[in-house]
Amino acid sequence: MPQLTSDLDLACARLRAGHLLALPTETVYGLAADARNAEAVARVFALKGRPSSNPLIVHLANADQAEDWATAIGPAARRLMARFWPGPLTLVLPARDQVPRSITAGQDSVALRVPAHPVARQLLERFAGALVAPSANRYMSISPTSSAHVVQQFADSDLLILEGGECRVGLESTIVSLLPGEPPRLLREGMLAAGAIEQVLGEPLLRGGEGAVRAPGQHHRHYAPGTPSWRFREAPPAALADPRCGWIWCGGARASAGPAIDLGEDPVDFAQGLYAALYRLDNLGLERMMIRTPPDDAAWAAIHDRLSRASAMLD
Ligand code: AMP
Ligand code: MG
Repeated sequence: MPQLTSDLDLACARLRAGHLLALPTETVYGLAADARNAEAVARVFALKGRPSSNPLIVHLANADQAEDWATAIGPAARRLMARFWPGPLTLVLPARDQVPRSITAGQDSVALRVPAHPVARQLLERFAGALVAPSANRYMSISPTSSAHVVQQFADSDLLILEGGECRVGLESTIVSLLPGEPPRLLREGMLAAGAIEQVLGEPLLRGGEGAVRAPGQHHRHYAPGTPSWRFREAPPAALADPRCGWIWCGGARASAGPAIDLGEDPVDFAQGLYAALYRLDNLGLERMMIRTPPDDAAWAAIHDRLSRASAMLD
């Protein structure tokens, strides 16, 4: 059984000895390992069942540490760090030669972030190093936003989990690449909106397409519950009458025979509660799950991205 703790010294000692640790961040819980310890990094891939082609984000205590990992940190990167770190923004920058290529999936770029969760910050300061910390879930399943989700994911392990309550943001970080000779590019939507980043950069972010950098690991089916899941605009009456059908609403919930969770009309609240709602319904052994498609509005962009990987469109 995994073990819960709030003992930062114990957590640090485990990391220094090359063990893994589940760690709360403001986005989701991470499966952390000492980023300088290749064996510990290999254990992250092994426990998650994550392919080695999917690179890891390096978590730092502060922006000064970025110099140890990346080169060519230009004025644009510095402005973004100053404005959004600590916070849910990951920057992909040219990697120093010493950065283990197991972290970057063989690429010459490295992804860096300074998390804002107070427990993650305290741990990183005490650890005085850097941690890789992909989401603390088995490959292709739902990211955890509470310690209970992590326990469920790794029930048959002796993983140590730092308790940090429910994650405030609830979706994975926004990822932006800033590489020499390439305009800044949005590699993954997150709750830190692309528009806010563009304002600080003073130029638009490129989106989609293939640039010099790949962001592997963003599979079409990802973040997915085990229960077959569908997005809808108009609730099918037959499904509303079916007790084996579960529902997630963004306001406007209709009466249904099956269990329903209304996450409300505010995208910030919806994002915060989404993965917990997926865990709750997925654990009920339902026949299917129905998710109301949110409005087509920039504030919902990251939610649309995750829902499109977790479910199929019904209509
Ligand atoms: P997460 O699953 O939240 O740990 O985020 C990892 C994701 O960040 C990967 O699936 C990639 O899409 C992206 N990523 C991490 N490192 C790099 C890198 N060096 N270059 C480009 N994308 C990266
Ligand atoms: Mg993940």
